[in-house]
Amino acid sequence: MSDEMEDLYQEVILDHNRRPANFRPMPDANRTIEADNPLCGDRLELFLRVEGDRIEDVSFLGSGCAISVASASMLTEHLKGATVADAEALFAAVHAVLTDEKATVDEERLGNLMALSGVRRYPMRVKCATLSWHALKAALASRRPDPVTTE
Ligand code: ZN
Repeated sequence: MSDEMEDLYQEVILDHNRRPANFRPMPDANRTIEADNPLCGDRLELFLRVEGDRIEDVSFLGSGCAISVASASMLTEHLKGATVADAEALFAAVHAVLTDEKATVDEERLGNLMALSGVRRYPMRVKCATLSWHALKAALASRRPDPVTTE
């Protein structure tokens, strides 16, 4: 990676950390997941409102290092209005770019998330970057048919 790209990526991360997108509680969330990364002290809570097959709304709260906050912020930007299938595909693409040097990178799908790709060289930081994504995965897996009826 060129130094210029690296500077640009760093700028994206710092910017999201300063002004995280969708940083708010969600009173009508139907999936809430807490996640923490004790190695760094990152803690976050991810809120989703899933209707049928679509993520109608997504937000988060929490605190942590710039990478964890920026990653969560970008996650919410990408997934608001996305289908559950889109979210799962994006999780796979992010996970690949962060953990597998030989992965085929879908830059078009990843967009600004490419800014996180630099952490691949720092194994401790990978956990910061993937924290919100693992929370997402857990939130989607906890899906159950709603509304629940006793009939
Ligand atoms: Zn961290």
